Amino acid sequence: MNSHRHRMNDWNCRTLLTGLRICTRCIYDERTASISFDEHGVCNYCRQIDRLTEEYGNRDRGGKAKLDAIIDEIKHDGAGRRYDCVIG
Ligand SMILES: [Zn+2]
Repeated sequence: MNSHRHRMNDWNCRTLLTGLRICTRCIYDERTASISFDEHGVCNYCRQIDRLTEEYGNRDRGGKAKLDAIIDEIKHDGAGRRYDCVIG
């Protein structure tokens, strides 16, 4: 019951000004295409970032080392070839 009341308070705080439901973590509101909210009021885009961070890491979670390893692999595979990078 307490957690339900807490959730309703979060909901009220995040909808007070606009009347629109807003993610409790970012600025997206219910007008955002294909948005959905979980039981904590966090949107599916924030959760996607969580999943990507978990899978690929970031600056604080080993992401730099993973990126460096990928770069080394690409450099190794491309050694002696005509093109050594792709810019997109
Ligand atoms: Zn969000």
